[in-house]
Amino acid sequence: MKPVDETAIRSVMGTVDSVRTIEGDGFAVRRPFPTEQLAMYDPFLLLDEMGPTDYAPGEAVGAPDHPHRGFETVTYMLDGSFQHKDSAGNFGILTPGSVQWMTAGSGVVHSEVPSEAILQNGGRLHGFQLWVNLPAVEKMVPPRYQEFPADEVPVASNEAGVWVRVIAGEALGVYAVINTHTPVIYLHFILQPGASHLQRVPSEYNAFAYVIEGRGRFATDEEEEESGEGNLVAFDQDGGQVCMTNTGDRPLSFLLLGGLPINEQLARYGPFVMNTKEEVLQAIEDYDAGRIGVIDF
Ligand code: MN
Repeated sequence: MKPVDETAIRSVMGTVDSVRTIEGDGFAVRRPFPTEQLAMYDPFLLLDEMGPTDYAPGEAVGAPDHPHRGFETVTYMLDGSFQHKDSAGNFGILTPGSVQWMTAGSGVVHSEVPSEAILQNGGRLHGFQLWVNLPAVEKMVPPRYQEFPADEVPVASNEAGVWVRVIAGEALGVYAVINTHTPVIYLHFILQPGASHLQRVPSEYNAFAYVIEGRGRFATDEEEEESGEGNLVAFDQDGGQVCMTNTGDRPLSFLLLGGLPINEQLARYGPFVMNTKEEVLQAIEDYDAGRIGVIDF
């Protein structure tokens, strides 16, 4: 196979529309995957855009106590706040701009619910949850909890109208502070109208953009159609750079995600993502027996 030119710009493989669905106790999410059309995006297992939803007092809902095993959950808030508690004793209030990177590994029971403030007064909730798979050798690592408030998650900007929050990886010379088990890029970009940016994404990474709002083009090819709200733009692995341009008249806000594919067989059942059916059955048995843990505070 011919080596890929890392200076080349990736072409767009295709665009996928997200699906609206309901999670937890009934909160609305927009989900680009997993869907019938797109099962996963190795090493990513799920991406949910939570809201944006405007709640009246007493209406907001979340996902009370439930387990996870075999992967990592990453929560990134844009609006409103969530309260987190888990069986490893972690507690956090996630506010706009903050990031929680929870490695479930061998298993965690956690609760993800709107904060008291949102429950009592109502308000807007908007954020993302991403599931990052772990390779077989790391599926049973001890749980790890990383939480960074907005002012500790690095951001960068330039005079060309590009702003970025660096959750994982590097952009505009700024590096993430979060440690990841697998090589992953997680960037939130906002481009002003007319702004364009080239981002390094190694060709061996699977990569996509998910548009939050605005309109943009994710290739240099003028023939390539524009993408908008709720679109997942899948990149080919034919280069080591991604080109993005705001083609609209409002700011273009999107996530850029990339990661080294794990390429392993999966056995997936709700909150458990393992390699074999036996491992999933074991996870269910462990959870039912209380061995994954309980939240006792
Ligand atoms: Mn969860």
